[in-house]
Amino acid sequence: MFDKVLIANRGEIALRIQRACKELGIATVAVHSTADADAMHVRLADESVCIGSPPASDSYLNIPRLLAACEITGADAVHPGYGFLSENARFAEILEEHSITFIGPTSEHIRIMGDKITAKETAKKLGIPVVPGSDGEVTSEAQALKIAKEMGFPVLIKATAGGGGRGMKVAHTAADLGLALSTARSEAKAAFGNDSVYVEKYLQKPRHIEIQVFGDGKGNAVHLGERDCSLQRRHQKILEESPSPALNAASRQKIGEVVANAMRKIKYRGAGTVEFLFEDGEFYFIEMNTRLQVEHPVTEAVTGIDLVLEQIRVASGGNLAFKQEDITFSGHAIECRINAENPRTFRPSPGQITYWHPPGGLGVRVDSGVYQGYRIPPFYDSLIGKLIVHGKNRNECLMRLRRALSEFVIDGIETTIPLFNELIRQPDIANGLYDIHWLEKYLGKQP
Ligand code: ADP
Repeated sequence: MFDKVLIANRGEIALRIQRACKELGIATVAVHSTADADAMHVRLADESVCIGSPPASDSYLNIPRLLAACEITGADAVHPGYGFLSENARFAEILEEHSITFIGPTSEHIRIMGDKITAKETAKKLGIPVVPGSDGEVTSEAQALKIAKEMGFPVLIKATAGGGGRGMKVAHTAADLGLALSTARSEAKAAFGNDSVYVEKYLQKPRHIEIQVFGDGKGNAVHLGERDCSLQRRHQKILEESPSPALNAASRQKIGEVVANAMRKIKYRGAGTVEFLFEDGEFYFIEMNTRLQVEHPVTEAVTGIDLVLEQIRVASGGNLAFKQEDITFSGHAIECRINAENPRTFRPSPGQITYWHPPGGLGVRVDSGVYQGYRIPPFYDSLIGKLIVHGKNRNECLMRLRRALSEFVIDGIETTIPLFNELIRQPDIANGLYDIHWLEKYLGKQP
């Protein structure tokens, strides 16, 4: 087992990883930018190193500085969390070259699931069903038009290097195609420094259902059921739940087995998520995330498995602690992402938290990196916490969620709590009847 883990992240996920390390008796190192000197992840770590100024490129994304921090502190492993360098194959490789363990999959696994075109090709080879679309990159409007006509409109132009819902444009007719192509390209260039795009069939009423997988890097792998993340705004998840109200035990087992088998074939190591769109009973692969996800606690709640602790165990050479038949799913869990944002316009709302009262009680978990008096810096994403509620069935979970949301008080800044209070009272949400477009339609109808 490791002696000391450096956590190359900030906020709630840095604290989440610290918790698992503490339980395993591993010392923790926090890294931080100058904007985060007062952050909770710094206060609670055994050691901390300031690695640069607020822009992520100068701190949380700066590989030489992270390596220096490892060297200064003698950390023998790095947990990247999510975002930042978590899916950077080069970072994983450099750490290995320095005999520091990257707590995640191999750099090779990150690469084959890295850009979206390569990921789709890998998925196809592994027998995972994918969204119909172009074979690889599309370089001209004529080429896009030919594919679109074959598949039928609407189509979606997607950035090969995409992430965070950026670089995606819908073309409903041939007349829209030119503009969709050029805007997707320029958005992709600006966001990722790479203007490569491809074309996919645009599904009109799918749900986003993702399968959590876990492997030991030795050919043993399991699936831990699904998460339904269909409640989205601008392709960004807002609320996640498990199990999906749209799946039954047979379809869950079927897709879970397809994905777990694929992970066994590639000897996948650690936690991963295979994302699908689900429409009319069919699954279509969109991408794989080779890391821990924001919404992982939903799976932890229904399986009772500590995913971060298992990631650390497996990265240090341990065997998988469970077989597929050992995994049982109990009850229902929902996560709400609490963002420091205006609940209507979604404008970021950084600033000082003057009062902080998180909810508690049976089945309620709050993962957050903030505290009363903390000043949220304007430089990073606006997620300040996650409320995860578990109940013995979906009804109990919703009842508890309503209660927990009403208890949650955050003053001084705006948050998305009022939006969740409103959403869970909508009949479609209560009945589990929503697809990936539901939230945008709902928001469009509100004053
Ligand atoms: P990112 O990596 O930017 O998050 P994804 O490929 O994971 O991009 O897609 C994010 C979201 O965009 C999906 O959850 C879904 O809402 C929407 N989306 C992606 N591909 C399609 C598609 N072919 N048809 C309809 N919606 C899509």
